[in-house]
Amino acid sequence: MDKKKRILTGIRPTGSLHLGHYVGALHNWIALQEEYQCNFLIADYQALSDHFQDTELIKKSVIDVTLDWLSVGLDPNKSNFVIQSYVPEHAELSMLLSFVTPLGMLERNPTLKGELDSLPIERRSAGFFSYPISQVADILLPRAHLVPVGEDQAPHLEMSREIARKFNRMYGEIFPEPETLIGKVGRLSGTDGKGKMSKSQGNVILLSDSEKTVEKKVRSMYTDPNRIRADIPGKIEGNPVFQYLDAFTNNDSNVKDFKERYTTGNIGDVEIKNYLSKTLNDFLEPIREKRAYYEQNIPIVEEALDKGINNARIMANETMGLVRDKMKISSYKKVW
Ligand code: ATP
Ligand code: MG
Repeated sequence: MDKKKRILTGIRPTGSLHLGHYVGALHNWIALQEEYQCNFLIADYQALSDHFQDTELIKKSVIDVTLDWLSVGLDPNKSNFVIQSYVPEHAELSMLLSFVTPLGMLERNPTLKGELDSLPIERRSAGFFSYPISQVADILLPRAHLVPVGEDQAPHLEMSREIARKFNRMYGEIFPEPETLIGKVGRLSGTDGKGKMSKSQGNVILLSDSEKTVEKKVRSMYTDPNRIRADIPGKIEGNPVFQYLDAFTNNDSNVKDFKERYTTGNIGDVEIKNYLSKTLNDFLEPIREKRAYYEQNIPIVEEALDKGINNARIMANETMGLVRDKMKISSYKKVW
């Protein structure tokens, strides 16, 4: 294996990527590519957890996510782009780890609890309940040292460390205890101001949205609901318009001025929203251009995936050899 420390992180192919993914995850990933051997996982097995009825969307999103990655500057020559189901050892390790995972660990996981509560009862499968274990397996399979993710993933990372410790103690040292690295904005709000921007909530601005779509979405964004006229002082906290400005501006003094005028009732929503649209479109334009290039050159995209998958298979084989050996699985010949 490479001498560099390893990263594993991923995204579920359940739709195109949005601004939350950028600030919560991708921004960090881009920077980490130099220093670490990065493995970026498109978690299509895990997507089945709440999208088992929508496999066509998963299939389409595998390519959409890859295009998004290439467009923001993830580099397949430096890092491995991996599709989970092309490395079935992910499933094998997940199954083995499920036996050493106490049920209570899943029951106590606050992210899982919240997600289960918001999932209609007919879609709450056993697979969904145990998806954090599959995520632990994803992280441990390449024996990752660091996992850069958004804030909602912190409980899953805590679980990964506990399971790695337990496995190492019971069967022998294999896994490093993976550290968590949270992005510069741990949780970007949705355009509706209700919780985090999330593919499944339909409150997203996509990295692939057109200029016009961005303008339209920003125009109908949630702001301070008590501010029904421009001369009423508004609130900055909990206001996604200002959270987006803080996250995507490269002109802090303009934003400072807007905040002052907003809190003293000296600016209309339209002026701020126009400025936000422009800020976001300036940020997204180079990403759109790169996306258009890759859309015209799909063989480059496929080559990136083939290379990443091959490398991941080599790593997975190595780890599973050790795991089977330590757990005395597939070892009958040594009995004779
Ligand atoms: P879904 O709603 O289907 O769960 P998602 O939008 O939450 O989709 P994931 O694929 O679950 O996307 O998350 C991928 C990565 O992006 C994770 O590291 C997650 O923490 C991060 N992330 C997702 N949404 C946000 C957000 N709004 N702010 C910060 N980070 C985010
Ligand atoms: Mg999610």
